[in-house]
Amino acid sequence: MKHFPAFFALQDQPVLIVGGGEAAARKLRLVRKAGAAVTVVAPRLHDEIAGLAESGAVATIRRGFVAGDVGGRRLVFAATGRPEVDGRVAEAAQAAGVPVNVVDRADLSTVVMPAMVERDDVVIGISTGGRAPLLASRLREAIERLLPARLGRLASFADSFRTAVRGVIPEAAARLRFWSGFFDGPVADAVLAGDERRARERMLALVNGRDAAEAPRGSVAIVGAGPGDPDLLTLRALRTIQRADVVVYDKLVGEAVLDYVRRDAERIYVGKSRGNHSKSQDEINALLAEQALAGRRVVRLKGGDPFIFGRGGEELDHLRRRGIAVEVVPGITAALGCAAVTGIPLTHREHAKAVTLVTAQGSDGEPDLDWASLARLGQTLAIYIGVGAAGRVASRLIEHGLDAATPAAIVENGTLPSQRTVVGRLAELERLVRIHAISGPAIIVIGSVAALADAALEEPARAAAG
Ligand code: SAH
Repeated sequence: MKHFPAFFALQDQPVLIVGGGEAAARKLRLVRKAGAAVTVVAPRLHDEIAGLAESGAVATIRRGFVAGDVGGRRLVFAATGRPEVDGRVAEAAQAAGVPVNVVDRADLSTVVMPAMVERDDVVIGISTGGRAPLLASRLREAIERLLPARLGRLASFADSFRTAVRGVIPEAAARLRFWSGFFDGPVADAVLAGDERRARERMLALVNGRDAAEAPRGSVAIVGAGPGDPDLLTLRALRTIQRADVVVYDKLVGEAVLDYVRRDAERIYVGKSRGNHSKSQDEINALLAEQALAGRRVVRLKGGDPFIFGRGGEELDHLRRRGIAVEVVPGITAALGCAAVTGIPLTHREHAKAVTLVTAQGSDGEPDLDWASLARLGQTLAIYIGVGAAGRVASRLIEHGLDAATPAAIVENGTLPSQRTVVGRLAELERLVRIHAISGPAIIVIGSVAALADAALEEPARAAAG
């Protein structure tokens, strides 16, 4: 992060704008929205600024800038468009320890202006650290489209009930739950739809009808986080993790996904890593139940889909037996994510009429599988947890009649920036794992569709292996 986001409280605070042209007028419009007491210093003034000066809305000093002008200001803008003057403004402000923004000169600024989305008091600032201003404005447009127009009204509406709600629900955690229910509920919908009268009636009923002493009810959502790229989270997964009080996650869930978890949610890691004993499934089950029974909104976050080799079923069963409310949010399982990013169609009119998701994990290292049925022609195998057993899997399939020349692809860290794809033949599977030093989570795809993997992707790996 190159620039730290923070918002200035400028109500009635002295702000200086140096310059009297269009660029200065644009800054003036913005800071006036924040209620600043603005002074413009410039020998000549743009009509809009002159008009505001006449009505007394801004103070003006009609002469060139002198260093003393920055004294006592909370924020200074240099918008003269003349590099020499803007440079002097920046220098004077920095010497006086006053934050300064120079239009189009991030290098001279101690404060940069983000691209902004505004809905009254709801303000979103977007920065790319100056690297891609066009990207920032694209993002702004996308967010503009996404956000309901009355979002600012919703914030004021909630604010107008803040004291009343605090009176009825004194306990902070319960109040947080009330408000998060509020923002997802019919009252908020009514505000956003522009029907504030109905919203107000319902809100009063909600606030007055609520029994503040009611025991908190916890819940667990077993959520699939997808294969790694956070763009592949479902909207429901996103909403759910953003409402969690506590997130229990394991090794396959990376930082990129965890970044979407609500900032103040507690995070509990239960995965394996070197030198750290993983929690047993029983311990995880107990932990989930204990957290939910304490009234918390628990998210059990798992890589891929929770019901595909994820032991989600055991957790669901354990929690239901204890009468805990459980929701399951599906995720994109690794095989589907890996297939999409490498261009391997798992089924294909000409090549594969079926796809089998199978784990090569077995007791004593020997996968306990029905090899004869897996070796049948005309299907695709997507093998999970198969890297360690790659050689054995290949031998068993060949022994049971699958052609040794059947295409096979290995997709490691699929959908992540570190993704690698290696394509070869079934007979050489173990060798491929070895020479390419596949060590991250990987899916092995076996079947003629594997030959369709984007060829460009395999080049770097081949080259690396010499
Ligand atoms: N529930 C998960 C699977 C958990 S089992 C899902 O639905 O995807 C763990 C195995 O998943 C790993 O050994 C690997 O085979 C596979 N896997 C998970 N994430 C992966 C990724 N990003 N790329 C390739 N394989 C992955």
